[in-house]
Amino acid sequence: MTNTMNIPMSSPDLNDDDRQAVINVINTPNLSMGKYTLAFEKSFCDYTGIKNTISVNSGTAGLHLCVRAAGISAGDLVITTPFSFVASSNALLFENAVPIFVDIDPRTGNINPELVAEAAKNIEKHLPKRMSKVDGRGSLKAILPVDVFGQPADMDAINAIAKEHGLKVIEDSCEALGATYKGRQAGTMGDYGVFAFYPNKQITTGEGGVIITNDDKDANFMRALRNQGRAPGDTWLQHTHLGYNYRIDEMSAAMGASQMSRLDSILSKREQVAAWYEARLSEIPGVEVPYIEPFTTRMSWFVYVIRFDKKINRDEMAKKLEARGIPVRPYFLPIHLQPYMIEKFGYQEGDFPVTEDLGKRGLAIPFSGVMTEAQVDYVCNIIREELKK
Ligand SMILES: *Cc1c(COP(=O)(O)O)cnc(C)c1O
Repeated sequence: MTNTMNIPMSSPDLNDDDRQAVINVINTPNLSMGKYTLAFEKSFCDYTGIKNTISVNSGTAGLHLCVRAAGISAGDLVITTPFSFVASSNALLFENAVPIFVDIDPRTGNINPELVAEAAKNIEKHLPKRMSKVDGRGSLKAILPVDVFGQPADMDAINAIAKEHGLKVIEDSCEALGATYKGRQAGTMGDYGVFAFYPNKQITTGEGGVIITNDDKDANFMRALRNQGRAPGDTWLQHTHLGYNYRIDEMSAAMGASQMSRLDSILSKREQVAAWYEARLSEIPGVEVPYIEPFTTRMSWFVYVIRFDKKINRDEMAKKLEARGIPVRPYFLPIHLQPYMIEKFGYQEGDFPVTEDLGKRGLAIPFSGVMTEAQVDYVCNIIREELKK
């Protein structure tokens, strides 16, 4: 039987106002670096209470600019998680810095602060097997936690370790716009926070991202780097720094600003869909639903990832669900086991067992704020049926 409901893996939550906002832009000659970009940035300062927002053309670009602003360069070490989307580690590799992975909390999938503390104390014991000789050996500079699946990492614990060791904190909140930790906004707790707007995220600009920071000097530096290294006062053909073209365009910014104006209703719809899933899936033997920490005062649902019992073969279940027309995705394939990471650093299976275990048992099922209760029912019934076979 095919998926008669045609349920996609994810869906943007766009309305006529968002579409009209884009049309308004394309009726003007200003398609880049204009008032919509400024309005989009202002919406983040207003929402988070952070002084500076730097918009960019992807979350990955945002992370990369944070790495540059934090002064992380070749051979420097940054403690981070192998259970994430690859961009969080790649942003370090772009500068030939070295991600120092530590394992995660088995319930949430977020970086385990006890292991972060241990690694910060005994960094030599945590170096990868292979390290490039060309880059030399820098020093431990930062911690890069990720708010996995929309749930904030344990930021108080991470910030305490950072303070003790004099480290910067880059909070990858690309999956967690609107989440709160002990009442504080995700992305606001480190030196820099990054959000991303690919179409499967909570809000979308097609492609896009923003960085938020209270550090004015770093904000100006990142604004320059985003714009081909042009510092304030530089003309179009003067470039104080080695920069990039990481600018967002006005169409994307207008679409984003329009969604930001109703972010809470977008997040509430996602919360409703997650609640429908939880009510049905927690009744199905062999299926674990997401665990929410007491310190997560608001979950910002990004994807809905279930975990199968160890006895159940996740990959076979994924195939069966796909065969019934339900799109699914294993989440995450561990970063340290991606081929280029194995080649560069010599990682192997068994290096981060909790990450690998969650990576083997987790499956993202269709999720978005525009799903109906009937669609959730349909997906859950098929999961129940296929588990019984
Ligand atoms: C989505 C995401 C990013 C950035 O993604 P882009 O596609 O570059 O916008 C970074 N880190 C994590 C954890 C993500 O989920």
